Amino acid sequence: LLEIRAVSKSFGADVVLDDIDLTVGRGEVVAIIGPSGSGKSTLLRAINHLHPPTSGFVLLDDELIGFRRGNRVLHRLSPSELLRQRTRIGFVFQDFNLFPHLSAAENVMEAPISALHRSRDEAAAQAKELLGRVGLTDRADAYPRQLSGGQQQRVAIARALALDPELILFDEPTSALDPELVDEVLQVIIELARTGRTLLIVTHEISFARRVADTVVFMDGGRIIESGTPAAVLDNPDNRRTRDFLSRVV
Ligand code: ATP
Ligand code: MG
Repeated sequence: LLEIRAVSKSFGADVVLDDIDLTVGRGEVVAIIGPSGSGKSTLLRAINHLHPPTSGFVLLDDELIGFRRGNRVLHRLSPSELLRQRTRIGFVFQDFNLFPHLSAAENVMEAPISALHRSRDEAAAQAKELLGRVGLTDRADAYPRQLSGGQQQRVAIARALALDPELILFDEPTSALDPELVDEVLQVIIELARTGRTLLIVTHEISFARRVADTVVFMDGGRIIESGTPAAVLDNPDNRRTRDFLSRVV
């Protein structure tokens, strides 16, 4: 489904992503772990072209992200074409990023109405269904400030689902949460994994990665150092840097 080919990203002279290759199959769940500053967030942002790669390509089902193939040359997509493309990729942020002036239901309805031109009634019915799925039926009319962090993040997940994306990217979805709220969010993500969603999750929760992921990727210094099954990467890593990292976090 997703193919990342030789993606590099520099900010000025800083090489933040260095020749990343990664393939994610339909229905696959990939967890990305690695130290702070290793380029995990930048990789997620390169995938949906929030931070366009300096070189290399991202393909979603053979469609190039950010570009259109022209007559022998690549054209950059216009902002509106890029927005349409991004509807195929959900993004859940560390700090929720809900619209503060919209209720939970309205947050979920916003993209279907503005990007897919759904009617308000249709979007409202869908929002109700999605908020039910994340356990928030009775909080649909609450504003973000009236919700706990865990509830806000579940609204953000419902919002990502509203466009029925082929792929959902999560950037440390629980690291802004109080410890007692982490599990309710992880449970929702585990449920998505179980229903066959394709997920790419940056996380510091190693036991969660072990449980949810088909593939664990360890990044350091802008490179993929090691990837494989959770058992291989987490319990029996080949690389010394992976071992050092794991001994620090678990
Ligand atoms: P963390 O676990 O702390 O979230 P990360 O693995 O997500 O770390 P990134 O946020 O991808 O790391 O950052 C990787 C490097 O890129 C860092 O050195 C950071 O300072 C640099 N960087 C990220 N965004 C920018 C930017 N917009 N401009 C300049 N440098 C940036
Ligand atoms: Mg990050």
